[in-house]
Amino acid sequence: MKLQRIVVTNDDGIEAPGLAVAEAVAQTLAEEVWVFAPATDQSGTAQALSMHHPLRVHARGARRFAVTGTPADCVMVALGTELMAGTRPDLLLSGVNWGHNLSDSVMYSGTVGAALAAAQFQCPAIALSQAFRAPEAFDFAVARAWAAPVIERLWAVRAQFGFLWNINFPSENAISGLRFTRQVCGSMRAPRLLEKTDARGQSYRWIAFERGLDAVSDPHADAVALREGFISATPLRNERHHDVCLDAVGAGAEWSLAAMEASR
Ligand code: MN
Repeated sequence: MKLQRIVVTNDDGIEAPGLAVAEAVAQTLAEEVWVFAPATDQSGTAQALSMHHPLRVHARGARRFAVTGTPADCVMVALGTELMAGTRPDLLLSGVNWGHNLSDSVMYSGTVGAALAAAQFQCPAIALSQAFRAPEAFDFAVARAWAAPVIERLWAVRAQFGFLWNINFPSENAISGLRFTRQVCGSMRAPRLLEKTDARGQSYRWIAFERGLDAVSDPHADAVALREGFISATPLRNERHHDVCLDAVGAGAEWSLAAMEASR
């Protein structure tokens, strides 16, 4: 596999070590690697766009740019400016995120958000994340070893469904393989905001959650794959409508105003 052009972004910011891992992976897969990454940590920004401040783009070496915005902003800059000399990427890699993006975290992940933003414009995209057991022992070894083979295999079997994947690597190197999974919610039980007091006696809060991936038990769940030592590969899509619900009510079915009035 040798693509012409890969764009690399992330949500941990242009200085993050995981970005360097993704850049190195991309170098093995493409002739040209372009980096458009947030200037600062944008974890938790999902697919958000900056609507309330302008974007500044700072060159950080050849084909490398820091953007004062979100991961999705970075994708817009890559696809919507002249900075790539009028060319389009064949693939976007987002990551490698510091920590997994599984279950409920997928909706909030800026790593995934960048991939969604690229796919919206028909650019194939892969979000890459690696779990860690202890933050101080983090080395991205599993992603470094397996990201390129996983991407190449997925690329070889890509089909008519589009190409948008959320890939999570376990923290341990003794992995069993790759499992295709569903994004299964249930890891966040409730918001629990931590209240603190600042130096002037005013209270402030940090968003946190009562959470635990152990609550997820679906055997095909992304979280379960990692728990059982597998790389998790979840195909995503941009559309959020609920197919099962829509089948139940009937896609395209209509209610007249009179029928709704009559049921009041
Ligand atoms: Mn992150």
